[in-house]
Amino acid sequence: MNVIPIHTARPQPPGANLPLDTLGRHISDLRISVTDRCNFHCTYCMPESAINCGFKFLRHDELLSFEEIERLARLFVAQGVKRIRITGGEPLLRRNIEQLIEKLASFPGVEITLTTNGSMLAHKAKALKAAGLHRITVSLDALDDATFRHMTGVDFPVRDVLAGIDAAGAAGLDPVKINMVVKRGANDHAILPMVRYFRGSGHTLRFIEFMDVGTANGWKLGEVLPSRDIIRLIDSEYPVEPVNPKHFSEVAKRWRYKDGAGEIGVISSVTQAFCSSCTRLRLSSEGSLFTCLFAQKGHSLRDLLRNGGSDAELSATIAGIWQRRDDRYSEIRTDNTAGLKKVEMHYIGG
Ligand code: SAM
Ligand code: SF4
Ligand code: SF4
Repeated sequence: MNVIPIHTARPQPPGANLPLDTLGRHISDLRISVTDRCNFHCTYCMPESAINCGFKFLRHDELLSFEEIERLARLFVAQGVKRIRITGGEPLLRRNIEQLIEKLASFPGVEITLTTNGSMLAHKAKALKAAGLHRITVSLDALDDATFRHMTGVDFPVRDVLAGIDAAGAAGLDPVKINMVVKRGANDHAILPMVRYFRGSGHTLRFIEFMDVGTANGWKLGEVLPSRDIIRLIDSEYPVEPVNPKHFSEVAKRWRYKDGAGEIGVISSVTQAFCSSCTRLRLSSEGSLFTCLFAQKGHSLRDLLRNGGSDAELSATIAGIWQRRDDRYSEIRTDNTAGLKKVEMHYIGG
């Protein structure tokens, strides 16, 4: 087996006269959740047991409208945002989502991406591309229906998600990123089959450590398969080498197959925290701003937005929230922090 070097060097952030948080981080990524609803019940995100325990989804009038999202997004861009990811819940459940993408895609120099469970992608890929979407990420945790059902909590054929990935590629949204959340003992046997399927396809498979987002997923450290073990497993069959990051706040560490069959990535939020380069903000579907994925509460912008707040007031509020930010949850995670009452992933936006 090869010796696997850990690459820690990171490019420096671009200098600019933009707000910095208390740890010197600037804003460059905005994730916008357009719905808290989903047609899947992934065990690690929105398990059916939690929904049955009286979880209340937002009403339509509680959601930000596309006009409100566009207005806020424009103000975020002025504060330094370079990448916007549309997420949820399942973002393709939001009616006419292409209309929002079209508006956001008109912002010069801003990359617009979307994360989806892929269940409706086969029908939507062309329209998303036509609206100006730049890139897409599809979540897929296994290739066999039984494991997929176990992970997603629904009886949905894997072949339909694969058809969605093919449709995205055919529509020109390639390379597609494929996100696989790995839970030890649940789908770790699916890692190598996924590697074999996507190697050489032109798409990039990324392995995400199971995280303690929210509380509904009953996270246990013992169910996390460290990404270094994932890399070691893959390397034993298909040798890989590290690739330098493209930008300062890149979440995934990139690796490439030595035989030229493409790249993979690992997102090691649990075992190798990357808070020091975290430039992400999240806007929930009802207009609350979260400065960390593991936050216990957000900052509502909706009232200011709906009660006549000016652009200048909204911008000052956003900058103030960012300047007070001191989040570094993954660096200080313990078994005790896992039990905090944190906001659920499908609400805050993954
Ligand atoms: N529904 C869409 C989807 O599944 O792609 C978008 C929203 S989902 C919350 C965004 C991403 O978060 C998905 O790739 C999902 O696998 C990931 N995710 C959700 N819960 C997670 C957890 N506990 N640990 C790691 N990743 C998680
Ligand atoms: Fe739905 Fe995505 Fe959460 Fe799965 S990870 S339950 S698909 S929002
Ligand atoms: Fe960013 Fe919070 Fe994750 Fe750290 S724990 S990387 S601050 S979202």
